[in-house]
Amino acid sequence: MKKGSNNLRLYAEEKKAVILFLCLFNLLFYVWDVYYYYIRLYIGGSVEVSRGGLGLSLYFLMLLPLFLAVYQLKKGKIFLIKYQYLTAFLMIDIIDNLIRYIGTNHHFATGNIVEVLCILFAPIFVNKKYFWFTAVGIIGKYILMGLILQDINVVFPILLYLILSGIALTVLVRFYSYIHSLTDVYEELKKKEKLAVIGQMAAAIGHEIRNPLAALKGFTQFQQENYPNTNNYFPIMIEEIDRINSIVDDLMYIGKPKKIKFEKASIEEIIAYTLSITQQQAERQGVTVETIIAGPLPPLDCEEKQLKQVFINLIKNAIESMPEGGRIQIQVKVIEKHHKLLISIKDEGVGIANENILNLGEPFFTTKKDGTGLGLMVTNQIINDHQGEIKIESVLKEGTKVNVILPIIHKS
Ligand code: ADP
Ligand code: MG
Repeated sequence: MKKGSNNLRLYAEEKKAVILFLCLFNLLFYVWDVYYYYIRLYIGGSVEVSRGGLGLSLYFLMLLPLFLAVYQLKKGKIFLIKYQYLTAFLMIDIIDNLIRYIGTNHHFATGNIVEVLCILFAPIFVNKKYFWFTAVGIIGKYILMGLILQDINVVFPILLYLILSGIALTVLVRFYSYIHSLTDVYEELKKKEKLAVIGQMAAAIGHEIRNPLAALKGFTQFQQENYPNTNNYFPIMIEEIDRINSIVDDLMYIGKPKKIKFEKASIEEIIAYTLSITQQQAERQGVTVETIIAGPLPPLDCEEKQLKQVFINLIKNAIESMPEGGRIQIQVKVIEKHHKLLISIKDEGVGIANENILNLGEPFFTTKKDGTGLGLMVTNQIINDHQGEIKIESVLKEGTKVNVILPIIHKS
């Protein structure tokens, strides 16, 4: 529905532009021609009333494309009108000129006011294709006339129209850039708004799920203790409840920056902990992990629990990208004169398609059958809260490298 209404708006804008163009064109065309060829000569005392060429039939001929345009406006087929009208005008004009000059020794009269209008007003359609169509069509007409009539006089209008085209193109490019920046701002706002709404909903639902889940987990543990050895489903039930819990935790993050309680922690320990958590999954999938830590690392200002979450997400993604097994390389080093820490996680997995790169970190964006699409969103959020940066480079079918850069000392 939205799309339809957007199209309607575009349609209305194009219609306005077409009507404006047709009115101005015809006004100038008839008023100018009548003044130039008839009134002027009459006032000047000349007896010549014929303009030569197609003469009066020119005006009747020019009514044809106008009728066609009005008919199409009524029918609602408006996007081709400008092209058709200009093409018809140029063709009629060429014929008019040929009749007027071929076989005579008259010099080619330069420039036509409606052509100036066409070029200068081309930007009102905010359409680069149409602009080039106009500029090439009109300048091309003069080149053609010059060649046929072997008349050097065409050089003046060609130069004039080149300059005018330059001006019109500049205006058009400004229009485009202005419109682009407006749409960028609009998209950004829309995204923020969407995130805020999803965030509120997710937080409300998450909150409601938490309490019954805590009860469920408590009772399951209670049952397990009361009836040990009765069945081996209890650990699976508890594990699954924990999984729901961690999804709920992730949901609570959407669109909501958190206040971090910064404390000093060791990045080596955080990574080691993360690896212990993900080890089982890695082994199951035949993934080996290699860690390269450059030198002794300074303690890092962070909220340890959250950074653990970040690296669990990233390492899990790396493991999941290699269903046939492979190698993960984790490198940690100090950069930027001991101000920042770079942690890079490189896998040899399936990689990320170009069209998906922009979606990374959007809530619920996932390409996995049972993915939630919350991992990178939470990761981004936590790293933002730590005033850090995350950069993802990926080559399809070769692998992905995620660089996380964190300031070592937090300045509040
Ligand atoms: P989930 O893991 O639940 O799908 P994430 O937010 O963690 O959600 O990841 C979103 C998507 O980004 C994944 O579904 C996957 O397509 C892509 N992705 C993330 N990390 C990697 C990686 N290391 N290799 C390939 N694709 C990745
Ligand atoms: Mg994930």
